[in-house]
Amino acid sequence: MSATQTQTLIEPHGGKLVDRTGPRPDGVDRLEQVPLTSRELSDLDMLANGALSPLEGFMAQHDYERVVEEMRLDRGLPWALPVCLAVDTPPKGDEVALTDESGRALAVLEVDDTFEYDREREAERCFRTTDEAHPGVARLYAQKPLYLAGRVTVFERAEPAFPELALDPSGTRGAFAERGWGRVVGFQTRNPIHRAHEYLTKVALETVDGLLIHPLVGDTKSDDVPAATRVECYRVLVDGYYPEARVVVSAFPAAMRYAGPREAIWHALCRKNYGCSHFIVGRDHAGVGDYYGTYDAQLIFDEFEPHELGIEPMFFEHAFFCRVCGQMATPKTCPHGADDHVFLSGTKVRELLANGELPPAEFSRPEVAEVLVAAYR
Ligand SMILES: [Zn+2]
Repeated sequence: MSATQTQTLIEPHGGKLVDRTGPRPDGVDRLEQVPLTSRELSDLDMLANGALSPLEGFMAQHDYERVVEEMRLDRGLPWALPVCLAVDTPPKGDEVALTDESGRALAVLEVDDTFEYDREREAERCFRTTDEAHPGVARLYAQKPLYLAGRVTVFERAEPAFPELALDPSGTRGAFAERGWGRVVGFQTRNPIHRAHEYLTKVALETVDGLLIHPLVGDTKSDDVPAATRVECYRVLVDGYYPEARVVVSAFPAAMRYAGPREAIWHALCRKNYGCSHFIVGRDHAGVGDYYGTYDAQLIFDEFEPHELGIEPMFFEHAFFCRVCGQMATPKTCPHGADDHVFLSGTKVRELLANGELPPAEFSRPEVAEVLVAAYR
């Protein structure tokens, strides 16, 4: 395909990019206030900008039930995780004001329904465990007891953590169209990108028009590398090692749920809304601890017909530098043994960085390692 051809981007999930932003209505200050947690605020912002299309608000019971049981919205469309707002009591009026933790009103919710939910069942179905040591389960168990459903209109958008990386789905779609891209692969990450993931993104990019590096910048576990450090790592990596005309780096405002396989589907569908036709799914995508099998997040895609998801997953093995091959490879492409591979455990890498030492260049680009060393200091 030549670059001058007009390319068509993938349709949003459900066919239409939702926009739930709007002007501040009169009388918001008189409405009952519902404060949102930081995870719910992330969801609200993604409802506003269409990242969660076709959702227009927090889920009603019929959608919630079918999502939990069958990974589908009530209308049959695939959807992997609940997007719900937890409250203590049903509101009295038809509308409520949704606020941040400081009490600032951000949105109005048209009250549709308030319903009870079973935390253990949601945990078992969505996280595949009821173990409270799982961070997603712990968050779920700490929630208020009812879900409040209804369409939202957001008049005050969240301050983006990284304004230079803040692109809504309409923004990434515009950026792709401007570059003449039709086939775009999305890469979700919540870690600095070392050589292994650089390799996966480049192998994927070889087969499509463009790459969206889409780091998650919402809440993560406290032991994950802070978003500000990661963003600096992405900047030096892309500046030094990717052709500018083939890559867009933008922030994904979601909070991590650590739901492993289901979150892989959810991440893919969100990226479809951002305009990605392809999505990289590595080993243990969105996993935590050893709750999920290494390939569970890839296998779960078999539970849908490919046309139902629209976005095409690209599955990868773990990559490494092989000294004999003299290049990056995976078990699929390299016949040599582990002794020939440059392997460093996460613990070993943290130890090196904490001592101010750079990991080998076969493991991490020196520019990236230097950012991490400075952050550890
Ligand atoms: Zn080899």
